[in-house]
Amino acid sequence: MKRNRLWAEVDLDALKHNFTQIKNLLTPGTEVMAIVKANAYGHGAVPVTKALVDYGVDMLGVGDSSEALELRRADITAPILILGALIEDEVPRVVHEGITPCIHSRDIARLLQDEAARQNVMLDVHVNVDTGMSRLGISPRNAIEMLKEIAAMPNLKMRGLMTHFSSAGAVSRNTINQQLVNYHQVVAEARRNGIRFDIQHAANSTAALRMSTTHLNMVRLGIALYGIDPSGFFTDVTTLKPVLSFKTRIIYLKTVPPGTPIGYDRTFTTYRETRVATLPVGYNDGYPFLLSNKARVLVRGSRAPVIGGITMDYTMIDVTDIPATSVGDEITLIGKDGYSSVTASELANLTGTIPYEITCQLGKRVRRIYFSNEQHNGAAEGEKPRQFAGISD
Ligand SMILES: *Cc1c(COP(=O)(O)O)cnc(C)c1O
Repeated sequence: MKRNRLWAEVDLDALKHNFTQIKNLLTPGTEVMAIVKANAYGHGAVPVTKALVDYGVDMLGVGDSSEALELRRADITAPILILGALIEDEVPRVVHEGITPCIHSRDIARLLQDEAARQNVMLDVHVNVDTGMSRLGISPRNAIEMLKEIAAMPNLKMRGLMTHFSSAGAVSRNTINQQLVNYHQVVAEARRNGIRFDIQHAANSTAALRMSTTHLNMVRLGIALYGIDPSGFFTDVTTLKPVLSFKTRIIYLKTVPPGTPIGYDRTFTTYRETRVATLPVGYNDGYPFLLSNKARVLVRGSRAPVIGGITMDYTMIDVTDIPATSVGDEITLIGKDGYSSVTASELANLTGTIPYEITCQLGKRVRRIYFSNEQHNGAAEGEKPRQFAGISD
């Protein structure tokens, strides 16, 4: 295989493992919407989505129409829900491609109805009710009026009602429970008016894995599918595997005397004779500047510190204590090497952010390489050749 300078390995077997594990924990019959917005959280939307559809997810969730259209262009025909709010310009394509929008306002409902009538089609829609997130969604106090209005629109089929939790990972379950109460009130009032929803969904990964009362009949799984535990609750109930590894190679290596300043603004000075390795990864690639002088990377199974500031294209590390190191050595920025590992959560903690942001921000220069060992199930664990499942540009 061609040697890359900077790449992400996406382990589709881990993705399948995570999906299967979570599915087993859900209330039987609960459907799964796989959230593949933001380029599948940086993992690569099309290959990840194709794999998930293969594994049997029921629906796909994206952020906007451009993400939905990317999937349709890749011949993915599974139902797609746009979680976000549409703007008027997006309406014709959404209707034409049979993508399911979420309705957050009366205006957009009317635009969708007009366009569906123009195109002479029936369009499935979901409605978002804001039970406490205050981001998108209709207010519960206006809900019934609006639901009645949408139900009367001849070209819209109101199939789903959703809400979104503000604090699924909070220690206390109070806000989740309150939001569920608000949600069920809207459902009950709708029912009294003859309106029923085939699909009801509220839970993100954390809610789904913490509380079965949030399952309704569909859950929206993002981060857990990718094997990342944002709030530390998942390890109590399941063992998820990180799907993504982020890797590079040493591109340059030299030994400098004690007292040598490293990088822009000389934020690090060597205190001993130091072997400095330069890596072709920088903040443009999603290796955050805030990791300067903080992160550890894996070199030959050991941890080596980042020294000096992370630049746009390059990062320096200290490999003095790993003498066998040479140019071309594979470096793990996120992932496992031998008994050592670096997780997205660790990098997030070091930079004061959340692990979501770490994988989402992986840059364009990071080549995504997809692996699956599926065909080698007979081989002993650990001896399986890594099956090459493709590269995306
Ligand atoms: C992103 C998103 C999700 C998925 O959240 P995870 O925490 O990644 O599981 C679910 N619902 C909505 C509305 C979202 O925007």
